[in-house]
Amino acid sequence: MRITSNKVIAGLFALVGMGIGVSAIAQQDAKRSISNIRGDLYRFQNNFHYSVFLVTSEGIITTDPIDANAARWLKAELKKRFNKPVRYLIYSHDHRDHSSGGEVFADTATVIAHDKAKATILGEKRPTAVPNITFSDRLTIELGGKVVELIYVGRGHSDNLIALHFPAERAVYAVDFVSVKSLPYMNLSDSYFPDWINAIKVVEAIDFDILVPGHGAVGVKADASDHRAYMEDVYDAVLAAARAGKSLDEMKQSIKLERYKDWAHYEEWRSLNIEGVYQRISLQRRGN
Ligand SMILES: [Zn+2]
Repeated sequence: MRITSNKVIAGLFALVGMGIGVSAIAQQDAKRSISNIRGDLYRFQNNFHYSVFLVTSEGIITTDPIDANAARWLKAELKKRFNKPVRYLIYSHDHRDHSSGGEVFADTATVIAHDKAKATILGEKRPTAVPNITFSDRLTIELGGKVVELIYVGRGHSDNLIALHFPAERAVYAVDFVSVKSLPYMNLSDSYFPDWINAIKVVEAIDFDILVPGHGAVGVKADASDHRAYMEDVYDAVLAAARAGKSLDEMKQSIKLERYKDWAHYEEWRSLNIEGVYQRISLQRRGN
């Protein structure tokens, strides 16, 4: 599916969900910033969460709103810095810590996500705007002569994650299933293994230079391969230990993954990562 700005049907905008109130104090304390990635592509920070936006002559394409307060801050900054409306809002996946607050942009933006993200946003009542347009595999958005390619990466961290490829900027925005020299978050809850490894391979197949994750530092394409290698190493080690009859506690002691000891969150999350993979393998063994 390929759409351009002049083909989008007006009047599709659906606003569902209410923003969750955050106290004024929390809002004041939020660490927010905008930094340039390359050309007209920028990164937006809200505490430990990041999204990206692309400025074009016909308006702005933005991604995860993060939450309503963050989205209101970004909307005001976009008005001040660029004086252009947000024409497209794209969710990387349904999880509420990235997708919340989309209603802030729904007055001017067409909201886009994967088919399964829309189903979960509705089913779980995520506090955000329901997508106007969904897709199953790939979708290319063109606006003001600029392009972003939306690519479904398959199951992994969730069942509805997409990678956003900005071909002119040679950048990829990839959230929660790829990070730069950092272990994945805690016990990998509700994720899919070994599908996660294949999801990163989808990113590796894209021709790009700059890797922009949803958390942590910006990196390069090789960081995606390193992250995939980490996931393979955890998976292989846990599978081998499970086949050898080791308990989860024994695995946490014996699986050191020392090659990654300099990565962020190695101390806090290594044993939780092992536990997460062990739980996924156990579920699969029970046929779930
Ligand atoms: Zn997530």
